Amino acid sequence: MTNAATLQAPAARPQTGGVAATMKALVYLGDGKKAFQAKAKPKIAVPTDAIVRMVKTTICGTDLHILKGDLPTAKPGLILGHEGVGVVDEVGPGVTSFKRGDRVLISCVTSCGACAYCRKLMFSHCVNGGWILGNLIDGTQAEFVRIPYADTSLYPILEGEDEEPLVLCSDILPTGFECGVLNGQVVPGSTVAIVGSGPIGLAALLTAQFYSPAEIIVIDLDEKRLGIAKKFGATSVINSTDGKAQDAVMRMTGKRGVDTVIEAVGVPATFELCEQIVAPGGRIANVGVHGKPVALHLEQLWDRNISITTRLVDTVSMPILLKMVRAKRIDPKRLITHHFKLDAVVDAYDTFGNADKTGALKVIVES
Ligand SMILES: [Zn+2]
Ligand SMILES: [Zn+2]
Repeated sequence: MTNAATLQAPAARPQTGGVAATMKALVYLGDGKKAFQAKAKPKIAVPTDAIVRMVKTTICGTDLHILKGDLPTAKPGLILGHEGVGVVDEVGPGVTSFKRGDRVLISCVTSCGACAYCRKLMFSHCVNGGWILGNLIDGTQAEFVRIPYADTSLYPILEGEDEEPLVLCSDILPTGFECGVLNGQVVPGSTVAIVGSGPIGLAALLTAQFYSPAEIIVIDLDEKRLGIAKKFGATSVINSTDGKAQDAVMRMTGKRGVDTVIEAVGVPATFELCEQIVAPGGRIANVGVHGKPVALHLEQLWDRNISITTRLVDTVSMPILLKMVRAKRIDPKRLITHHFKLDAVVDAYDTFGNADKTGALKVIVES
């Protein structure tokens, strides 16, 4: 996820004396390094801020990209993390919808609610926010986090509601749903292919079923993940290790290809596979974060009436997803494979970062 918006950190309020309160957090140190260390506890900087005491957070593939140095916007010293649930600790005088003690879900995308992009429901491109948490400002893998524009960037958790499934609503479920399923225009009876069965591909798989497609074909290199895709509702799976995924899809679809193909990996080979298996009139919905150029095969596609969409998650579908989770039409907990305490967050990174060995999908990190 990248966002061109820059947010100046508001000047800290003058110290009134005494020692600044500290907390522990997972800090990016540059050059692939990270540490769980002491940081100053965040303070209300502008009236629309809230301070949230974190209860549960998780680690995203994007955090691993930052550690690798792929995102120059994320500078050393940054607290990582853009997902989670918590309890409001303090609100600025401009916050009207939340108060101290409220349990909240944090959207990975901060929205001011007032700029031209927010008015178009493109929160990801909010000129005052967008994806800033754990990118341009300190994130959620900490004891406390400052949430700008709290009224429009937090969601209430219901009384007595299990908060754990909601951690998956911060980013991964809306990303699979908005960038994959909605942009891919999955409709009843259609044929869908999902390239990549990591957490995001699986989130697309779960949410595609809201629209009752006739077939969902999941393609991956990892047999274990394909097994999970089967359990999550894939009608067929293809192991593409042999390089013959295109032939397999064409065989399964009477040489037609698929109506919607969702790219959930982010490398040239997987995007090119999408171009090879999209049916005439179909859609390629890109979800993957691409770091390299990809060949656009217009010599094959120019007459096939296809559409290609790209998107950064807006979390605009949050109200729908929360209703579906609360109505038990979808169980995001199925994506959770491991639990860690916050002070073992470095171990959580090791487990998540070595998913091929550990079988990790999403790890919960709890305070
Ligand atoms: Zn993420
Ligand atoms: Zn905005």
